[in-house]
Amino acid sequence: MAVTEQDGAPLAPGLYLVATPIGNLEDITLRALRILRSVDRIACEDTRQTQKLLNHFGIETKTTSVHEHNEAGRAAGLIDDIRKGERIAVVTDAGMPGISDPGMHLARAAIEARLAVIPVPGANAALTALIASGLDTERFLFEGFLPPKQGARQARLEALRASLSEDAAPLTVVLYEAPHRILETLADIAVVYGSECRVALARELTKLHEEFLRGPAAEVAAQLQERDRVRGEMVLLVEMRPAAAGEAAAPVSLLERIRELAASEGLDEMAALKKIAKERGVSKSEIYRELQRVRNKK
Ligand code: SAM
Repeated sequence: MAVTEQDGAPLAPGLYLVATPIGNLEDITLRALRILRSVDRIACEDTRQTQKLLNHFGIETKTTSVHEHNEAGRAAGLIDDIRKGERIAVVTDAGMPGISDPGMHLARAAIEARLAVIPVPGANAALTALIASGLDTERFLFEGFLPPKQGARQARLEALRASLSEDAAPLTVVLYEAPHRILETLADIAVVYGSECRVALARELTKLHEEFLRGPAAEVAAQLQERDRVRGEMVLLVEMRPAAAGEAAAPVSLLERIRELAASEGLDEMAALKKIAKERGVSKSEIYRELQRVRNKK
């Protein structure tokens, strides 16, 4: 047990990052309940949502709102409160704080201020989906949400594959996706990685209608297309293999894209790289390194 929680003593001041259920309320841990009861305040992504959870478990701790738009701004005040001796828990609407959810800024600010940051583990959609996906669980990459626009999404998928060396073993990419975009994303996966690319779609995890669809991307898309409507929360897992020899790999398309932008928009190389980095959702230095790799290969 963490030194901050020994022998039934009162909780020590600090930032407690507490995981909450992703559907099934039985997935809250005994430790999470004790900590949520004992802290001075619970910083929540959506106070109304968390209040339902607290009411269910008869927890009367005060709540305060910390969401993605105010997290950085609220951090200083909360850190001051912890310095004065408060115990503050951070929860999100579901799952682990900091994983495609608020929490990271607060954790960093507390670490910077040399305050205790205590993780309280529990449910998380990405790992819950991964372990039952049937895909490789030894090597995986959590990517979270892909860009919403098709061009940037395909470019990001290409950039991910370009980061695999040619002889690398397959890697499972773990994505969060919204139901209204899942068909577009599966179509992009089929375009970029091939229609035979194996995927697993995990829907409504831990809930009454939990479902897994497993198979080639095109087949999973066809199964979804047969439905009137695709609903529910979902995690998409993709078996990513390095580009096969002769396949149009990302490095070639990077040079093509630079030429295209020069021709269509008159951009010089630096301006084109800046634009491509934005399109692909990666940093300028990452794109620059990719360009160096391509040029060194020639
Ligand atoms: N922090 C959360 C976690 O630890 O899993 C993730 C928050 S993120 C804003 C929400 C996304 O997680 C959803 O859009 C969906 O992709 C995924 N998700 C959350 N709950 C889920 C569930 N019960 N079943 C499937 N996917 C879920």
